[in-house]
Amino acid sequence: MTEHYDLIAIGAGSGGLSVANRAASYGARVAVVESGRLGGTCVNRGCVPKKVMWYGASMAHWLKDAPGYGFDVETRGFDWATLVEKREGYIQGINDWYNSYLAEPKVDVLTGTARFNGEKSIEVDGRSYTADHIVIAPGGEPIVPEVPGAELGITSDGFFELTEQPKKVAVIGAGYIAVELAGLLAGLGSDVTQIIRKTHFLRGFDPILFTTLTEEMKREGVNIVSETQVKALEKTADGIDVVTYEDERLSGFDCVIWAVGRRPLTAALNLAAAGVVHDEAGYIPTDHKEDTNVSGIYAIGDVNGKAQLTPVAIAAGRRLADRLFGGKPDRYVDYETIPTVVFSHPPIGTVGLTEPEALQEYAGQKVRCYTSSFTPMYNVFGHQPTQTAMKLVVVGEEERVVGCHVIGLGADEMLQGFAVAIRMGATKKDFDDTIAIHPSSAEELVTMT
Ligand code: FAD
Ligand code: NDP
Repeated sequence: MTEHYDLIAIGAGSGGLSVANRAASYGARVAVVESGRLGGTCVNRGCVPKKVMWYGASMAHWLKDAPGYGFDVETRGFDWATLVEKREGYIQGINDWYNSYLAEPKVDVLTGTARFNGEKSIEVDGRSYTADHIVIAPGGEPIVPEVPGAELGITSDGFFELTEQPKKVAVIGAGYIAVELAGLLAGLGSDVTQIIRKTHFLRGFDPILFTTLTEEMKREGVNIVSETQVKALEKTADGIDVVTYEDERLSGFDCVIWAVGRRPLTAALNLAAAGVVHDEAGYIPTDHKEDTNVSGIYAIGDVNGKAQLTPVAIAAGRRLADRLFGGKPDRYVDYETIPTVVFSHPPIGTVGLTEPEALQEYAGQKVRCYTSSFTPMYNVFGHQPTQTAMKLVVVGEEERVVGCHVIGLGADEMLQGFAVAIRMGATKKDFDDTIAIHPSSAEELVTMT
């Protein structure tokens, strides 16, 4: 027998859970399909466990800073297994909490892998379900390049399964995950080599961010090997060797982590049965309201390839439900000015256009950058003079702020409020007219000349 719903979400991650919960809150009959653990990537093998490990590494920094503040502390060790156990307990609590989240308002959970068997029809564990609206939100998975010995390496998923701290680690890649894992592993005391195929990591971010972070990671002891492409991984008596196209052999790693991007989980969905198109990489193109090419079928979160961030998936899900069932036809995500944080050491907070992007987008118009670079007060007493750097990118005679980029202590918490101001069209004068909070690092952003 086929069961019918108002809405079915495929995937109980950030996007699927949000659309399901919000739709149910409007009284819709809703189901969510999940093949793994409730919460998806962010909760189980992404943002949440990553942030716990980031806090752990931050704690290691604070302990090293403590003598500068007069404390006579002796750190006798760090127990990776303890932190992992506490982290997994915390995640289990979130998994359990989802049961109440999905109970009221009521959302049915269909356990298994969904695949389309018709336009508005899916099959899960041998049973068919139909819906007026189907939301595709299966997220993605890490990419492992097809090089000899690739299986000797792990991905971010494998990183979160490590029960012992790796001693000597190679992190291959140049994006968010590579930078975050390299930073936290180094902070926790592993010997880290980061292998980048181009000249630097975080290409696409403002130069002030990646140049400052490169210096800070080197200061922290991370061995950054740039313009180096991995040809193979080889098992030796001493561990794993990384062999490169530049004829180098980096030896003796007990852990190699691939962090070279992710791919959408669309292969198992049998999209053809529904007539939903995807691009070569598997991403499902959507318009600004998350509609796919098939009416009544939507794609939200990582799978549409627009901005692979949890709050984006959540906002897209909630706003889609607001439109479909909440009588709010104009609720959709503005993908223009999305703030984001890289949980590096020190962290990066960024929103809006980079300097190169502004110069290109506003070619022929006045583009000006205000910058500041300094050792924050906290670090003056710390074990090393970790830098903070900031840049405001402004355009036009009115100096509208179109970009704000910060690296340094507190950057992760600093940017949310500035993102609101920038979305509202704040000018440099608005920033200048705002009274500073003193003493802080953030005050630099409203006192730049
Ligand atoms: P997911 O959360 O991946 O959920 C998809 C769900 O669908 C999964 O549970 C999956 O099992 C299920 N599924 C897949 N196919 C099927 C099927 N056919 N049938 C049934 N179920 C299916 N973002 C941030 O904003 N901040 C961060 O700090 C951050 N850190 C990250 C760290 C790491 C290591 C990673 C990997 C990602 C991080 N992200 C972060 C990105 C964030 O996790 C994703 O953008 C977000 O989880 C996307 O949500 P989603 O709903 O699209 O997919
Ligand atoms: P990213 O797309 O951010 O970065 C992967 C990078 O690795 C590429 O940009 C590329 O950089 C490099 N790369 C690609 N292929 C290879 C290769 N074969 N060998 C060496 N390097 C290669 O992917 P991530 O997996 O790091 O993260 C996926 C997404 O998840 C992010 O884009 C982000 O949206 C989200 N995320 C968000 C976080 C947050 O909000 N804090 C944290 C973690 C993930 P280049 O071309 O310069 O070599």
